[in-house]
Amino acid sequence: MRVQQITILGATGSIGMNTLDVIARHPERFQVYALTANRQWERLFEQCRQFNPRYAVLLEAVAAEQLQQRLQHAGLRTEVLQGMAALEQVSRAPEVAMVMAAIVGAAGLQPALAAAQAGKRVLLANKEALVMSGHIFMRAVQDHGATLLPIDSEHNAVFQALPRDGNGDLRAMGVRRILLTASGGPFRTVPLAALEHVTPDQACAHPNWVMGRKISVDSASMMNKGLEVIEAHWLFNASADQIQVVIHPQSVIHSMVEYVDGSVLAQLGNPDMRTPIAYALGFPERIDSGVAALDLFQIARLDFEAPDARRFPCIALAYAALRSGGTAPAVLNAANEVAVAAFLEHRLPFQRIAAVIEHTLAAIPSGAADTLEQVLAVDNQARQVAREHIERSQALC
Ligand code: NAD
Ligand code: MG
Repeated sequence: MRVQQITILGATGSIGMNTLDVIARHPERFQVYALTANRQWERLFEQCRQFNPRYAVLLEAVAAEQLQQRLQHAGLRTEVLQGMAALEQVSRAPEVAMVMAAIVGAAGLQPALAAAQAGKRVLLANKEALVMSGHIFMRAVQDHGATLLPIDSEHNAVFQALPRDGNGDLRAMGVRRILLTASGGPFRTVPLAALEHVTPDQACAHPNWVMGRKISVDSASMMNKGLEVIEAHWLFNASADQIQVVIHPQSVIHSMVEYVDGSVLAQLGNPDMRTPIAYALGFPERIDSGVAALDLFQIARLDFEAPDARRFPCIALAYAALRSGGTAPAVLNAANEVAVAAFLEHRLPFQRIAAVIEHTLAAIPSGAADTLEQVLAVDNQARQVAREHIERSQALC
């Protein structure tokens, strides 16, 4: 078996660490080419010590200097690079077979796109990249012969439940609908009035998954599911009407595909991201992920309910952005990132997140999203509009 070299974008995050956990179980299959992070150089140093990559990349210059000194001191040969261009460089390097795209938010778009343009196997966790620039991203995958494998547990489940040789035409595959499951997050049953006062720590205390703070807040508002509806649209060529959100509090069924004959195929497993990560790393083979076997007797029951539109207004905003098309999903994503950051910094109440997004979507007419320049320009504009809206409402308080 040939050892495959892999770059992990966002190695110090929740997905990055789970990826390294799976990779460590298969030293005969995978070798780490590059590990990257924003500024968490200490954790990156520990990872370099364990995995001995050729490159370690930090976005921040000061952190890069500190890592460099520490590596030198420890006698390690990993070379330190810095900045966005370096992230792209380690994504498209000829030695690299696979790129795990696990940077959070819009910041991950360009390095993930670079991997697609270099024809790599792209393991996509960074859903924001696809939400912002689905058309550009999917075209790059197709034009450059890249392989796109979804890491998001729902999309990984759908991918597993679809015929492998399907050509992207859901109708021809006999698919009626994609059923995206959602846990409903920590606020599913909290009285609506109490949502006004929820804190970032409460929002990040997810009942079933341990994740980074941004996606945890997205799960609490269910914007995560909204982003995933748009992600599913691009990955599976599904229209908004072909994607249904189903609340399933146990997070055991990771999603389902409903066929015209009435069959519904589901993928089940413990809620542990190492399963979709191992699936994508080994594809088409199945490899050990370290995840415990599912104990159905212990789970005993599986529940389902429809999402409550009043409690979770972000879902409808995402569907509306998907239906508008063009730059609307990029606007939705940017406004959400700004609102979530403000909430995490105690500058915005949880329940105002949806209002900021709604305001931003209404303020910016949807335009063409055919080039990266167009997408980045609207991303910038939406951030500005959202920030101003938050500042104005703060001034009123
Ligand atoms: P996280 O916050 O734990 O980690 C983010 C990683 O990105 C870190 O390594 C960080 O250093 C890096 N990073 C952050 N900002 C950066 C920037 N500006 N430039 C370069 N690097 C930067 O996030 P996470 O929970 O691992 O999520 C990563 C992505 O995967 C997100 O898009 C999320 O939606 C998606 N995802 C996560 C999970 C999960 O279980 N955590 C599940 C499904 C999808
Ligand atoms: Mg998900």
